[in-house]
Amino acid sequence: MQTSFTLTQLLDPQVASSEKILRACVHCGFCTATCPTYVLLGDELDSPRGRIYLVKEMLEQDKPATREVVKHVDRCLSCLACMTTCPSGVHYMHLVDYARERIEKTYKRPIADRAMRGLLARVLVDPGLFRLAMVAGLIARPLAPVLDVLGLHRMAAMLRLTPRRKPAPPIDRIGKVYPTEGTRRGRVALLAGCINPVLAPSTNEAAIRLLNRHGIEVVVAAGEACCGSLAHHMGREDEALSRARNNIDAWTRELEGDGLDAILVTVSGCGTTIKDYGFMLRSDPAYAMKAARISARARDITEYLATLNLRETTAPMPLTVAYHAACSLQHGQKVVREPKQLLSKFGFVVKDVPEGHLCCGSAGTYNILQPALADRLRERKVANIELLTPDVIAAGNIGCITQLASGTAIPVVHTVELLDWAAGGPVPEPLAALTRSH
Ligand code: SF4
Ligand code: SF4
Repeated sequence: MQTSFTLTQLLDPQVASSEKILRACVHCGFCTATCPTYVLLGDELDSPRGRIYLVKEMLEQDKPATREVVKHVDRCLSCLACMTTCPSGVHYMHLVDYARERIEKTYKRPIADRAMRGLLARVLVDPGLFRLAMVAGLIARPLAPVLDVLGLHRMAAMLRLTPRRKPAPPIDRIGKVYPTEGTRRGRVALLAGCINPVLAPSTNEAAIRLLNRHGIEVVVAAGEACCGSLAHHMGREDEALSRARNNIDAWTRELEGDGLDAILVTVSGCGTTIKDYGFMLRSDPAYAMKAARISARARDITEYLATLNLRETTAPMPLTVAYHAACSLQHGQKVVREPKQLLSKFGFVVKDVPEGHLCCGSAGTYNILQPALADRLRERKVANIELLTPDVIAAGNIGCITQLASGTAIPVVHTVELLDWAAGGPVPEPLAALTRSH
């Protein structure tokens, strides 16, 4: 694609890298076929190619984002299916990340939109506040239809996504070391995260048990907090970078202290961002090298487990698992085979979901900010999963787990919980009823 940036514009490293991305696009349109918003809406401007044109125009003209650009970029899930499909290697993720930052800096959103985004950016990253919000959501959940009638669809979506059980009591893992059961084969850091400890503390519990049982010491680094992914996807780049620097410092202390073989993440959306810290901080002389070092050590939990040559085992029950590939894992990190191979190795019958490349609609805060599209994607995903008549759905991202669980009666669990169960851990809570009936 031809571009017409001035030399002065190209002095900005963000514009310079965007220009390289734009030039790689040959506008073939292959990406449109796998883009969920194009599949649903059929509008070129809601396809990757259409968005690339809009962003190109916004950057070249060096003007504030228009309402049209904001509308179509906001509808993008950042699912990155387009990157998997693109034959020319267009790095859409870096382009849309920068577009969101430009929008945040140059476009004044309506007040309700600003308030909702501000609320999400504040509450979701603070486990204490998030826990309170979950309790309030649980009480107010029956009011969701009323909010819909009043046109408050985003508030209604938030209530519908609230799990029907009370949030887990707080467990402070920060700064803790979990030693191995036998000889130590390795040492890793595990991201505690911000949403995960409230919605699904069982995921990291299972990961720690499984790793310890296989000789891997686990540390949750002192000082670590939210990875910045949510802020990053909302275009709040200063906040995202400050959160990234905080975690880089925390992990660097461990790396230079007792050492780390890897930094493990059980939420694939966070993993994709941590693996990108090196790019995000490439122009920061104080952090560029440290960030690249941290990104190089970041691994999804299944990616790391696959390197340990774990022994084959039989599943505690003969269960059929529909493996839902989270977009951030399959498209963002290209971790495709490992979760399924591990589940098979641990004795489960694993089935691929038809149209597995399409997003379930979760996408960070997308299911709150774009509830209508997110609902349609969830319905489509659930229908595809139910065709398989599985006993359980496994996924590697808390966003997908919450989104799918709000649309089906089939239990949804994190992949690592099934692996831990098969290796001698407790039965995952969503499967308790199923195991009783067998
Ligand atoms: S597939 Fe790649 S090169 Fe083709 S239009 Fe999409 S982004 Fe551009
Ligand atoms: S990231 Fe997903 S929604 Fe956005 S343009 Fe690419 S395929 Fe479409």
